[in-house]
Amino acid sequence: MRKKIVAGNWKMNTTVPEGKELASALVSKFAGVPEDVTLVIAPPFTHLDSVGEIIKDSKICLSSQNCADQEKGAYTGEVSAAMLKSVGCEYVILGHSERREYYGETSAKLVEKTKLAFANGMKVIFCCGENLEDREAGKHFDVVGKEIKDVLFQFTAADMANVVVAYEPIWAIGTGKTASSAQAEEIHAFIRKTLADQFGKEVAEDMTILYGGSCKPANAKELFAQPDIDGGLIGGAALKADDFIAIAQSY
Ligand code: PEP
Repeated sequence: MRKKIVAGNWKMNTTVPEGKELASALVSKFAGVPEDVTLVIAPPFTHLDSVGEIIKDSKICLSSQNCADQEKGAYTGEVSAAMLKSVGCEYVILGHSERREYYGETSAKLVEKTKLAFANGMKVIFCCGENLEDREAGKHFDVVGKEIKDVLFQFTAADMANVVVAYEPIWAIGTGKTASSAQAEEIHAFIRKTLADQFGKEVAEDMTILYGGSCKPANAKELFAQPDIDGGLIGGAALKADDFIAIAQSY
């Protein structure tokens, strides 16, 4: 069964006390979230332990925003998949466009990170999406298709049960510009077809594909009503408990 997911990417925002306050607010407002919607939050590394404690008896799941491409050892500043699992992370976001753009995250690295996430029993929220230039040149299907093939096609159909795809057009992230529901549905359907061609229709039908890019309470309803949009990866609006919960109520 395809899962409905609303995931919040806190990025490099909030101090630990602020993050704890936000997590507590989400726990107290959670009652308004429909039964069949899974909420995931991805705070910074420094917050995972204490935020994990706050949400541990709730139905909110913990995610990290990244993990190392090596198992362990002399990799100063890195955080391994095993470490993340040990603080209760069920998910890891991989391939976010900010990591690809600012930190040289290549598909080869993403394959290694994905292997380590799976080896440690975590699910991967795999991000893909085109920039404005590619969109305007009509190359968005090629760009997104290649990002998916270069990473996800290195894994098996069975592995796809542990993958959530997040389509995030770079031109819509943090810009206030959202893809129209028709634009988003068109590429979500393409992503599902790409996955179906490789892994089979049944597998692709069960996969959750999220939309990300200036998603907020005002536009979530129309986006989530599309047949191939199963939820959202939320940046800015995930930092306000009321907005994040309102988005989760938009199905
Ligand atoms: C994101 O970066 O994953 C994102 C979707 O950000 P925003 O909602 O702020 O556009």
